Amino acid sequence: MSMVMIGLEIHAQITALNSKLFCSCRGNYRDLRPNSNICEICCGLPGSLPIINQKAIEYSTMTSIALGCKVPDKIMFYRKNYFYPDLPKNFQITQYNVYGISSIGIEGKYELDDAKQIRISRIQLEEDPGRIVYSEGGMNVRNTALIDYNRAGVALIEIVTEPDFTGPKEVRQFLNKLSLTLEHLGVCDTLLEGSVRCDVNVSMNGGNKVEIKNINSFKEVEKAINYEITRQSSVYNRNLNIELETRHWDDKKKITFKARSKEEEHDYRYFPEPDIPVIVLGSDFVSNLKQRMPELPNQRFERFILKYKLSEHTSNILINDKKLADFFESTLKLHFSPTEIANILVTDFKSLIEDDTESTDYLKNLKVKPEHIAELAKLIEGNKISRITAKDILVKIFESGKLPSEVVNSSNSYKIADEKTIMDAVQSVFDTEKSAVEDAKKNREAINFLLGKVMKFTNGRADPKIAMRLINSKLSAPEKQ
Ligand SMILES: [Zn+2]
Repeated sequence: MSMVMIGLEIHAQITALNSKLFCSCRGNYRDLRPNSNICEICCGLPGSLPIINQKAIEYSTMTSIALGCKVPDKIMFYRKNYFYPDLPKNFQITQYNVYGISSIGIEGKYELDDAKQIRISRIQLEEDPGRIVYSEGGMNVRNTALIDYNRAGVALIEIVTEPDFTGPKEVRQFLNKLSLTLEHLGVCDTLLEGSVRCDVNVSMNGGNKVEIKNINSFKEVEKAINYEITRQSSVYNRNLNIELETRHWDDKKKITFKARSKEEEHDYRYFPEPDIPVIVLGSDFVSNLKQRMPELPNQRFERFILKYKLSEHTSNILINDKKLADFFESTLKLHFSPTEIANILVTDFKSLIEDDTESTDYLKNLKVKPEHIAELAKLIEGNKISRITAKDILVKIFESGKLPSEVVNSSNSYKIADEKTIMDAVQSVFDTEKSAVEDAKKNREAINFLLGKVMKFTNGRADPKIAMRLINSKLSAPEKQ
């Protein structure tokens, strides 16, 4: 049995910011013409001076608090020097833990669902480099590349964990939980392309650590780790040494490949950033922020159970999709019926949106709004429609955006509670399903079959309780009936 140790280095953009970390260029660089969102500061022209974005300090501090980190009284920025085409200044302004000065967060702990704790070694605030766009064939072909500096200088939060993970499943759990936390904090919209990236280091059986870089979405992380474990196992089984190296993840071929050795031999020559003074956060800063912290996923989970009396299972499904949980609470404001509404959302509603959850605005662009779901719940509760019909109505609302009452009126799908009408349906089922009727007299299980037939006969509109009662009374009635 081999022992696997995995550590993560996560980069999350602070997508909530209007501007970059040190200049007033737009924080949202997406969909802009290449190299149109740049200025003398983010391009590092001589004489330009960085000005720190105060909101970025607040967001990164909130992230540190949420991940159980200590936040120091004062912070500093450093220059990490290296030459790479995506870095117009030839250095990145970042943080560094030396001489008793630490980054914005250190020594944190973050708990997985099974109560296992993952240690966070540090959280730092830094700037994103530009974007290199490789031409077809992936980055290891290296024929041509284009550079777009629109992203250069965007605020990034780097989160570094200790190698506390023992397998890809734990990593996935952690990243899911982290995404939810970042979204609840309002720091990062993790569904935006390239907003979260991850480097992973994997070592096996106490051997050398292999770093995998360039994993551009949390989804790919698990695949990269699985590939790397298989690769290292096969090296290990052949009694070869696992080399200490940096590898890249090729998300098209789904393999890791060795980075050129030149790229590993960095000497970053960190030194304090002379253009940004030491920033004293002050004693009230953290305590004030703690009071203003948005509700975190765990707290929201507890609240859903206590206030709305939902099951743990249902609460989990809602909380694990922040947008769905928000939608749920908006609906409650219109009609307070937590169980019914949660039930609609986590079953039929969720099955209809499942395909779209990858897109960031999937709920915003829907024709179905909280108003629709509130009305649908009222119709069910008022015994106007059956739950079976409710699903069909929901499908129609998804397509047309019409209100449930309109759909019900136009499609004549009100529930049938009239005993005579239901009795007619029961009679006709009894006439056609003679052997099932005989069965049902001996075997109670078979009654459900008859009920199903009656529901089908009425297009799902019969009140199932009444139908069941009528079937039962007919079954126990004297033979000649
Ligand atoms: Zn700029």
